[in-house]
Order: sequence, then C-alpha cells, then structure tokens
Amino acid sequence: MQYYYTRKNPDARGVIQVHADRCKDLPEILERVYLGIFPNSSLAMNSAKEKLQLTKVRICTCCME
Ligand SMILES: [Zn+2]
Repeated sequence: MQYYYTRKNPDARGVIQVHADRCKDLPEILERVYLGIFPNSSLAMNSAKEKLQLTKVRICTCCME
C-alpha cells in the first residue's frame, strides 16, 4: 500500500498528475492534495477521477506499475 497525491493545479493541457509518496517529482506540500492509501496506481487514478470529477488524470511515469 502506498500514499498517493495529486498536484493541486492542472498542467497547461488541463491534466492532473497523480504521484506516489516515494516519487522524486512529488509536488511541494502546499502544491499537492492527499488522495489516500491504495494498493496500486490504477486504483489511485480511479479515486482521483471520482474525487476531482476529472477525466484528464495521468499517473506520473515513474510511479506507474
Ligand atoms: Zn513519480
């Protein structure tokens, strides 16, 4: 299980990125939103889509399983 976060603000394409807490690109504490604890990145992504009502959600490439 891992902690997952999203960046607070979408990038220029309107995409929100999801990161695991071990990520080297994890946003600064004020720039991120805690998502929850999930066994894998796809469950974290689903939760982000539901919670943020967004379809443009991507997992950070280094956090992908
Ligand atoms: Zn990452």
